[in-house]
Amino acid sequence: MSEENYMRIIDLRGKKLTRAEMLEAMPRAEMGTNEATDLVQPILDDVKARGAAALRDFAEKFDHIRPENLRVPVEAMKTAVDELDPEVRAAIEESVRRSRAVSASQVPAPFHTDLAEGARVSERWIPVQRVGLYVPGGKAVYPSSVIMNVVPAQAAGVESLAIATPPSRNNADGLPDKTILATCAILGVDEVYAVGGAQAVAMFAYGAKGSEPQDGEILCDPVDKITGPGNIFVATAKRMVSGIVGIDAVAGPTEIAIIADKGANPSWLAADLIGQAEHDELAGSVLITDSEEIAEQVQENLKYRVPRTEHSERVNTSLRGRQSGIILTDGIEQSIDAANAYAAEHLEVQTADPDAVIAKIRNAGAIFRGPYSPVPLGDYMSGSNHVLPTSGTARFASGLGVHTFMKPVEVIEYDEQGLKTLAARVNAFAVSEDLPAHGESVLSRFIDDPYNKETI
Ligand code: NAD
Repeated sequence: MSEENYMRIIDLRGKKLTRAEMLEAMPRAEMGTNEATDLVQPILDDVKARGAAALRDFAEKFDHIRPENLRVPVEAMKTAVDELDPEVRAAIEESVRRSRAVSASQVPAPFHTDLAEGARVSERWIPVQRVGLYVPGGKAVYPSSVIMNVVPAQAAGVESLAIATPPSRNNADGLPDKTILATCAILGVDEVYAVGGAQAVAMFAYGAKGSEPQDGEILCDPVDKITGPGNIFVATAKRMVSGIVGIDAVAGPTEIAIIADKGANPSWLAADLIGQAEHDELAGSVLITDSEEIAEQVQENLKYRVPRTEHSERVNTSLRGRQSGIILTDGIEQSIDAANAYAAEHLEVQTADPDAVIAKIRNAGAIFRGPYSPVPLGDYMSGSNHVLPTSGTARFASGLGVHTFMKPVEVIEYDEQGLKTLAARVNAFAVSEDLPAHGESVLSRFIDDPYNKETI
């Protein structure tokens, strides 16, 4: 291995690590959602207390523009559609088509189970009533995230959809990015706010009053659930308001892990690592390989490519950060173990037998199989969703989908005979828990009830 590595090496070869040691060995960013809590709390508190006035102040501080309108006028959205580049419009429409097709097949079907005569349990999936969708727009702008949020929400039947996205200093009036606005309009969403970051999450969670100059008016009603990706401040704020409202998952600074063996193409691997690093200085790019030769070739490729890429400085910071690295393993099994411990938001599998590897993956936000399913395809228009769990949360969370916007509710439907058959057993359970009134609730329907006797 050359002396001057571009990315740091985490050499697991020959090591038998415990689960805790393996988790500890994984590359993670210095600032996670725990570390950012102290920065985010005052933003949440201020928006809760001062509503629109605080939103404007934070826009000025963090987005360097004071938006004329916090709620985007519908007229501005119509204009954005009219001015949209036809090629970009065609790409948006293709993405929407594919996303709608996948979402349609995700809608869960109601079911029922008959347990005995007169004893049925059924499940209804009910859409969340009002959701707040976050669309990032700081370092880059993400009209694609409008599609990823809105399409499954609409397929789920959500009644009320609001979008928040940062105001843009490229627009003199502080309107958000025009392509984002056009995408909202194409999808039929007209409640859009020029509000970004943790303050947008606070607005959705608590609602916000006051739309200067008419203080006291409602600017935004609180939502039931907040979804969507964002930077560390957005992800931290979502985590902090979770419980007051629902959230999808912690979808923070993005990550890619690639499991590659000696047959993979090092140039494509390097391009994929850079593509992810382009999002954010805190983005994580991780190569997991049992081939020292591939690792070396990727390092050389990076040295060539990074200085030549548009966002070279950001990419360089991200690839050389603590959250990125090349994990060297002593075989495909250890590569799989490392991938499961890392639990990547995006996992590419570029090996001779990808299906054998995929069969053993337990933790990943989304899996990209083979060399022709790179992550950017999923970012824009594979039909899959790009809002995915980050920083190891793929161990227990999943990406956005129709299910995110629905709640399964069980309906319990027993008739007299169905209940009578179980009455003694329910009572036995209730007595064993020292909750005899539970038992009486059931028994009162079948035995002489002292209340009835005394009152009739
Ligand atoms: P963003 O909209 O997420 O963040 C911009 C906002 O951050 C600004 O409006 C500002 O309010 C706030 N902010 C900036 N500096 C701040 C500070 N010092 N203190 C408090 N708040 C501050 O846009 P972005 O920054 O471009 O980040 C987009 C993120 O979304 C990237 O990290 C990208 O990787 C991530 N992403 C994740 C997924 C996923 O599914 N996990 C998908 C797409 C994008």
